[in-house]
Amino acid sequence: MTSSAYPVPSSSPAPAPAVDRSDVENLTREEAAARAGHLQVTSCTVDVDLRDAAAAGQTTYPVRTRISFTSSTPGAETFLDYLGSSVESVVLNGETLDVAEHAGAARIRLPRLQEQNEVELHTTSVYSRSGEGLHRFVDPTDGQVYLYTQYEPADSRRVFPVFEQPDLKTRFRISITGPDTWQLRSNGAAVSRTPVEGAARGLDAGLVRVEFAETPVMSSYITALLAGPYHCVESTWRGGVADGEEFDIPLALLCRASLAEHLDAEELFDLTRRGLDFFHAEFAHPYPWGAYDQAFVPEYNLGAMENPGLVTFTEKHVFDTAATDAQHETRANTLMHEMAHMWFGDLVTPQWWDDLWLKESFADYMGALAVDEATGFTTSWISFANGRKAWAYVQDQLPTTHPIVADIADLEAADQNFDGITYAKGASVLKQLAATVGREAFRTAARRYFSRHAFGNATLQDFLAVLEEVSGEDMGRWAQAWLQTAGVPELAADVEGSGTPQRHVLVTQTGLDPATERPVSRPHRIRCAVHALDADSGELRRADVADVRLSPEDPAGRVVVEDLQLPAEGTPRLLLPNEDDLTYAKLRLDAESTAAVLTHPVADPLARATVWAALWSMVRDGELPARRFVEAVMELGLQITEVGVVQSLLRQADRALQAYVPAEEREALQARFADRLAGHLAEEAGGDRQRAAARTLATVSRRTDAQLDLLAALLDGDAVGRGIEGLEVDEELRWAFLQALTVHGRTEAAQLDAELESRTTARGRVAHRLALSARPHAVVKENALEQAISGIDEDGEELSNDHLTATVDGFCCGPPSLIEVHDATYFAALEDVWRRMSQGQATRVVSGLFPGARDLAEGQQPEEHPTARQVAAWLAEHPQAPAALRRILREEQDHLLRGLRAQQAARS
Ligand SMILES: [Zn+2]
Repeated sequence: MTSSAYPVPSSSPAPAPAVDRSDVENLTREEAAARAGHLQVTSCTVDVDLRDAAAAGQTTYPVRTRISFTSSTPGAETFLDYLGSSVESVVLNGETLDVAEHAGAARIRLPRLQEQNEVELHTTSVYSRSGEGLHRFVDPTDGQVYLYTQYEPADSRRVFPVFEQPDLKTRFRISITGPDTWQLRSNGAAVSRTPVEGAARGLDAGLVRVEFAETPVMSSYITALLAGPYHCVESTWRGGVADGEEFDIPLALLCRASLAEHLDAEELFDLTRRGLDFFHAEFAHPYPWGAYDQAFVPEYNLGAMENPGLVTFTEKHVFDTAATDAQHETRANTLMHEMAHMWFGDLVTPQWWDDLWLKESFADYMGALAVDEATGFTTSWISFANGRKAWAYVQDQLPTTHPIVADIADLEAADQNFDGITYAKGASVLKQLAATVGREAFRTAARRYFSRHAFGNATLQDFLAVLEEVSGEDMGRWAQAWLQTAGVPELAADVEGSGTPQRHVLVTQTGLDPATERPVSRPHRIRCAVHALDADSGELRRADVADVRLSPEDPAGRVVVEDLQLPAEGTPRLLLPNEDDLTYAKLRLDAESTAAVLTHPVADPLARATVWAALWSMVRDGELPARRFVEAVMELGLQITEVGVVQSLLRQADRALQAYVPAEEREALQARFADRLAGHLAEEAGGDRQRAAARTLATVSRRTDAQLDLLAALLDGDAVGRGIEGLEVDEELRWAFLQALTVHGRTEAAQLDAELESRTTARGRVAHRLALSARPHAVVKENALEQAISGIDEDGEELSNDHLTATVDGFCCGPPSLIEVHDATYFAALEDVWRRMSQGQATRVVSGLFPGARDLAEGQQPEEHPTARQVAAWLAEHPQAPAALRRILREEQDHLLRGLRAQQAARS
C-alpha cells in the first residue's frame, strides 16, 4: 500500500498507516524458491466485502482469507505477503497469533508449521488510486463508483494475504459482498447469490453475497475482482477442439455505464469468437476457464491483463471519439494477445519472472498471428514490423538491455521487465523460430507443451525439450544465441565488384553482446531482395529475391547471395536483407538503397514498413540526418496507405524534431512540419490519415506557433473556412488543440473550465488537468511540480495514476526557461519519490519529469551536456539506490546521449 502511504494533510482522511517501500516488500527469487521448496497450497478462500464501496470518501474494505497448505518441513516457519491497511486477526492451526507485529509490515509470519496447515485471517485492505490492487474510480459523468483489480506481477497481496509467487498455484474460492444492483464478477462464473441483511452505503440498493465457482489450479497474480454498475452485454461461443465434443463458453463485455453507447459489442464478439475458434484449432487444448468476460476499465495502467475468465482492458479501447483502422487493429491484437495467454501463461505459467518471456513473447507472437490469420485485418505483420519491432530495437540498444530469458533477482526487477525485449523482441525471435523449424513443428511443440505442463509451471528447458523432440534438432545453440544473449544483430546487404557477371550481393552480419562487448553472431533464415525503380509507377518494385541462411560460422559474418539478379547499374534500387521481415535485426541500408528510398515510394507494404524501420534506426545511430527523415515523412510517409505506419512515422518525426535535429535547424523545421500537416488536413477530406495528421499537429504545436491560428479556427468550428473538410473535431481533438494553445498562453483557465463543464467526462478531467499544468507561468509550474512529486493534488487528495501523468505531462510543456530551473529539485527528490510511491506511480514521475533539455551546444561533447553531467553525478553518488530506479535513470541518460550524438553527427 505504498501509494496511499504518503503523509496527507490532516484535513483529509488518512487512509492507511505510512509504510515505506522496504526490502521486505521486495520478495527475492531465493526467498520464493525456498518457500516453494517446502510448501504446497491446497486451497485459498477469499471473501471481499465491498458493501461500503459506493459511499463517498471510502478508503478501505474488510477481507477474510483462509488458506490450506502443507509443509514438508514441520516446525519450520514461513510468511504470507500482504500490503493492507491492518491485520485484525491471524489464526494458524487453531492458535491465535499476535497481530501487533504485523502493523505496517509487508509480511505475516507463520511460525511452527505442521504438515497440514490452515490459516485464517481478518484484514483491512486499501482501495488503490494507482491502478495496482483493487482500484476505485468515481465516474465524473454520473458520480458512480467502479472497481477492478490489477495484480501482475505481485499486487494480489494488496487485496488479500497470499503466497505471492507464480509457482505456488492453488484453487481459489472467491466471493464478493456488494450492492445487489452492481455487477460483481471474478474469474469463475457466479454459482450463488445470497441476499445479505443491510443496505449498500451511498446507494439505494440492498446487499448480496456472490460466490464464484472454485477455479482450476492457478497463480494468484491472475485472480481478479470487478464490481460496479458496469454496463454488460452477453453472448455465447460454441465450439471445441478437432475431434472433441463441442461446448459453450458464456461471453460478456463490460464497460462503464457512461460509455455504454460506444461499446461496439458486435465487432468485439466477432473477434472473440474468431479468436476462440483459432486458438482451439491451433492449440488443440480446450479453454479451461469456464466463462470469458472482457471488461474495459477506467484509469488502467496497461493495455490489458489476461485474468482467466475476466480479462481487463484499458477503456481507451472503447472508442468514444473517432478511431482509425489502426486503433481497431491494435485492439484486435490486444484481444488476441490476452486470449493466447489463457494457454500461454494461465494454463502453463512461468516458474519465476526470469521466464516472463515464456508467456509474453508467445502471446505477442500469437496475437499478431491470430489477427493475421483469423480476422479481416490485413496489416498485422506490417504493424508488427514497423511498430512492435521498433520498440524492441530501441530497448535492445540501451545499456540496461537483457537477454530474452532474463535474470530477475526480485519483484522490483520483474516490474521493470515488462519491456520491449520481453514482448516484441521475444515475439520477433519466435517468428524467426517458426521460419526456421516450420510452422507445423512450432504448432506441434506448443500442443505438447500444454498437454505436458497444463496447470503447472515451466521454464526455458521445458520449452526447449518439446521443441527438440518435435524438430529433431539440437536447439541448445539456437536458444543460447537468441534467448540467452542480449543485443541486436545488424544486417547489411552490399554490392561487390563491378560489371556483369562479376557484380554480386553480399550480406554481412555484425553485432555485439552488450554484456561482454564481444562480437555475437546468430543463425538466421532470411530472404534478401532487390527492388528496382519501375518507370511507369515511379515506385520501387521487387525485381528478385533469394533465400539466405546465415550462421555463426560464416567467415567474418559474410555470405554471398547466389542467383540474385541486379538491375542495370544506375537504375535506382533497394537491396533489402530482411525481405518479408522474417528475422530480428537492425538493417543498415547501403548508400544507393538509402538514396532510392528517400526519393521513391516502395510498392510492397511489408518491405515499405521494414525500410522505414531501417531509416529510423539510422537516424538514431546518427547515420541519417534527422532532417532528411522528417522531410521524407512529409513527402512520402504521409501518402502511405497503412495508417498504422503513418501514425508511427509521425510519432518518430515528432521525436526526431525534439531530440535528433540540431538546435539551429529545429525551429524552422518544426514550423515546416506543422505547415505540412496543416496542408495535409486540407488534402485528405476525412479519413484516418487526416485524423493522424491532426493529432500530430496538436502535439507539435505545443512547441511551434506556426499553425496556432488554424487550431483556434478549428476549435471555433471554422474548418470549412480553412479549406478543411471531413475532420471531426470531437472531444479528443478539442482538448488536444486547447492544450497546444494553452502552452503558448492563448487560453484562459476559465475557458478550460468551461470546456470541462460542457462535457464532464473522465477523459476531459485528465485533459483539463494537463492543460492547467501546461500554462506558461512560473507559479503554475511550481505547483504542478510539487503535486507531481508529492502525488497529492490541490485539494489534498491522492492523485490517481492518470491524473499524476497529466500533471507531469503538463508540467513538461512550455518554455524551457520555466522548466529547467527545477532540474535540481527533480534530482533531489528521486529517492524520496521512489520510497514513498508505488513502483507504478514512481516510474511515471521519474521517467516523466526527466529533464527535457535536448540541445547540444556548438563544440560541446554529448557527455558535457548539463543534464548528462547531472545524471552521471547522481548515479555516481547513489550506488546503493534501488536497481529499478537506477535503471530508469540510465535509460533516460542513454536516450539523451543518443540524440546528442546524432545532433553532433548532423553537424559534421
Ligand atoms: Zn501479455
